[in-house]
Amino acid sequence: MELFCLYPGGKRKAFTLSYDDGVRQDARLVQLFNERGIKATFNLNLGKQSRLTGWTHESGLEIRYLDKDEIVPLYAGHEVAVHTYTHPHLETLTKAEIIKELRDDKLELERLFGALVIGLAYPYGSYDRRVVELAKAEGLQYARTTKHAYDFSTPEELMEWEFSCHHGYEGLPSLAREFLGTEQELALFSVWGHSYEFDTDQNWQVMEALLGTVAGKGDTWYATNGQIARYLLAMQRLSVREGQLVNPSGQPLWLEVDGQVRVVS
Ligand SMILES: [Zn+2]
Repeated sequence: MELFCLYPGGKRKAFTLSYDDGVRQDARLVQLFNERGIKATFNLNLGKQSRLTGWTHESGLEIRYLDKDEIVPLYAGHEVAVHTYTHPHLETLTKAEIIKELRDDKLELERLFGALVIGLAYPYGSYDRRVVELAKAEGLQYARTTKHAYDFSTPEELMEWEFSCHHGYEGLPSLAREFLGTEQELALFSVWGHSYEFDTDQNWQVMEALLGTVAGKGDTWYATNGQIARYLLAMQRLSVREGQLVNPSGQPLWLEVDGQVRVVS
């Protein structure tokens, strides 16, 4: 049996984005995504989400967080994920402090949004083995790092997910064009950043150009980080037993089996 894994709907590629810190510039970013049918994940710090809170960027720009009453309508249709309650370097904390940072953020997100939260982005991209194990124990199924793969590979380890690149990567336009032509199995293009960087770097056109290249393609699944993580986890559990495909996940999986597109439920 010759198998080639596909994404939902028989799509051959997936595109996702991840943006951190829940700041005011996310409103403009979400609007860009919504206009083009793009799905993203937003990693929030519930201990900081107040319009009275922020910091002065080295460029001199005053950065302000979104308020709790703004985030629920804004991120509708996207995913929200844990970025810890107060954005510490997790690996410097005690075990009890790490658990509290993860749990307080996750529980408040779940209460506000009325949905299970399964994702994490490590603040500053910093973590150690202990942090990974505690995050798993808190029910988190994937965690985005700030390391880059510069390609379209799916993560080998979902708790140490390396994205394709940051939106500031100088090779982004050529990577985006390359994505259009890739025939890699389960090709995944993933981009992360902070929306305030488009203001401090005055380069919103970078995102507009990226979406102009990759949005609206019939062969691409536009999905949140969590939707992709869940799908990949389900795909990992697929097996062949006595010539039959066995999918224990409960999530329908799309494959090309001997050249024919099939859904395995
Ligand atoms: Zn952050």
